[in-house]
Amino acid sequence: MSNNTITVTSPLLPDLKEFESLLEDIWKRKWLTNNGYYHKELEKALAEYLKVPYISLFTNGTLPLITALQALRITGEVITTPYSFVATTHALWWNGIKPVFVDIDPETGNLDPNKIEAAITPKTTAIMPVHVYGKPCKTKEIQDIADKYGLKVIYDAAHAFGVEVNGESILNAGDISTLSFHATKVYNTVEGGAMVMHDEQTKKRIDYLKNFGFAGETEVIAPGINSKMDEIRAAYGLINLKQVDAAIESRHQTAIKYRNALRNVDGITFFDDMSGVRHNYSYFPIFVDAEKYGITRDELYFKMKDQNVLGRRYFYPLISTFSTYRGLESARSENLPNAHKMAETVICLPMYAGLTDEDVERVIDCIKK
Ligand SMILES: *Cc1c(COP(=O)(O)O)cnc(C)c1O
Repeated sequence: MSNNTITVTSPLLPDLKEFESLLEDIWKRKWLTNNGYYHKELEKALAEYLKVPYISLFTNGTLPLITALQALRITGEVITTPYSFVATTHALWWNGIKPVFVDIDPETGNLDPNKIEAAITPKTTAIMPVHVYGKPCKTKEIQDIADKYGLKVIYDAAHAFGVEVNGESILNAGDISTLSFHATKVYNTVEGGAMVMHDEQTKKRIDYLKNFGFAGETEVIAPGINSKMDEIRAAYGLINLKQVDAAIESRHQTAIKYRNALRNVDGITFFDDMSGVRHNYSYFPIFVDAEKYGITRDELYFKMKDQNVLGRRYFYPLISTFSTYRGLESARSENLPNAHKMAETVICLPMYAGLTDEDVERVIDCIKK
């Protein structure tokens, strides 16, 4: 195997010279964190780019989830999906909230709105769906249920940077949406994240909460946390934002190549674009039907690995199978058949801006046999 390793992802890095010049500016300003110049500039730029009214920057994508639950005073039980990254459910646990797992829609990988009502109890206070792989949830159906039962909706939109439905940001759905700017995501600030809200009051409260609850020099209004983004990463993010459209277009081209090549491979399926949606091509999951394809998902995964092509079984295992959660009534596998099936058949193929044609061909060759 003389071939170079093709990784599943590769970070989008800003221009180094430009970053250095902003670092020099930060050195001059001598203001490193606490709502500094670049923090404010990045909030402005992101609100505009993402077409959202208010946004608050965070130090990663997990803390806005935890803080959103605090800000909305969510307690008791929250309905969520087992088919996500563990942080979604961990955020509930850190707030002393019981996660209630509901199965996914096999067509999208997202929480199935038709199964939500049956899981609502007098203790339910919110729904926490995930736009898995950046594919928009059925936000209207979810909101109708939330309105009927008086529940809040917090979207884990970690995968959904820049995703729009009919020209409107998906981040405007629900009460709050959270983003991750981790190095592996479509847009990154090394580590980082954000919360999107709809009104100035909530923005103000969130800004207090991410700074220990300080509402002034001597006043603390709530048991807040420290999850502010610093100036260095905000400056990095400001430059990185300039190339995100080109990065998404590059990913789009890769998705087209994968789809063209794999459409007629027996036993391999994938998602197509949804009409009216601006996708961000954050991931390219394929699903392996072992009977039709001839070998199992894991056999394909390790075969790819042998040829230095790294896929990722994302999301596998399901969150509901981890030791912290598997004792929950809603974690029983009979309750989550679609999620189990997806977790057992998925491989995310290498996907990042600048993946070369040659590498895309190598990935395709592995799968076509
Ligand atoms: C990446 C991710 C997170 C966590 O974000 P971090 O920035 O790594 O803390 C949360 N939820 C989902 C679905 C994610 O993919």
